[in-house]
Amino acid sequence: MKTNIFSENQDYLTKATVEGVRIYALRTTNLVRQAAKMHNCSHVASAALGRAMTGALLLAATMKDNERINLRFMGDGKLGEVIADAEGNFVRGYVQNPDVFVPLKNGKLDVGAAVGNGKIVVTRYLQNAEPFTGFCELKNGEIADDLTYYLYKSEQTPSSVALGVLIDPSGEVLHSGGFFIQAMPGAKDDVLAKLENNVMRTPYITQLLEIGYTPEKIIEILGRDLQISFKENVPVAFKCRCSRERIKNALASLEKKALQEMTEDEITEAHCDFCNTTYQFTKAEIKEILAGRTD
Ligand code: ZN
Repeated sequence: MKTNIFSENQDYLTKATVEGVRIYALRTTNLVRQAAKMHNCSHVASAALGRAMTGALLLAATMKDNERINLRFMGDGKLGEVIADAEGNFVRGYVQNPDVFVPLKNGKLDVGAAVGNGKIVVTRYLQNAEPFTGFCELKNGEIADDLTYYLYKSEQTPSSVALGVLIDPSGEVLHSGGFFIQAMPGAKDDVLAKLENNVMRTPYITQLLEIGYTPEKIIEILGRDLQISFKENVPVAFKCRCSRERIKNALASLEKKALQEMTEDEITEAHCDFCNTTYQFTKAEIKEILAGRTD
């Protein structure tokens, strides 16, 4: 196979097939670190958000380039909603309450308790079709198991999703990544049984990343003793879809009365939750938006 062209500072996803089974693996350390800082996340919030964003990228990789997937983990735990949104190689996300702490469980971050019980809602924005939304109850709030359970129960596609984020005591994201295994039509039972056995014998994803395993190497471990066919490596990154122009368009679509009320303030602020950016509009700009209205 080709040598890896991506340095440690570049997050990327590797696509491969193993005898009729899709296997994707990715490293998201840099983008999760960036998002955790952007949102001032606590340790457990970083872990939950990192897992959700990594999962969104894995699922987006099975879709077309200009299609989008939105994951919402709506639990009753302290974190509130955990949201991740991916389109092609780009992901963004946020946690409703990013500053919460929960007690460790067996020395590990207890993402399950922080997310709690509730439901997962998945919306796929498809090309030439209406958006598709599915949901089911959360399996355990650990994000990876919730996604595996959702894909099986709501979309009837048996899959295996593994996600991991390793955080040091100071809160710095050290490693983040995941993998995704999904049988394509016609995959043989003995291949699936072998893969299942391989997955059970594979260490945690964070342990593999910690010893320097690349996404390609992780796929080699998962597909050992099987015929692996590597497809491509694609860079992935955090990128928000918001812009001043988009926010301005959103303001323009508000009710006229709401806009008229805004002209009473010197500055109107609009906030993007996904990237924690605040946009400011002056009274004159709001008046200009109002003047552009024909109703
Ligand atoms: Zn944004």
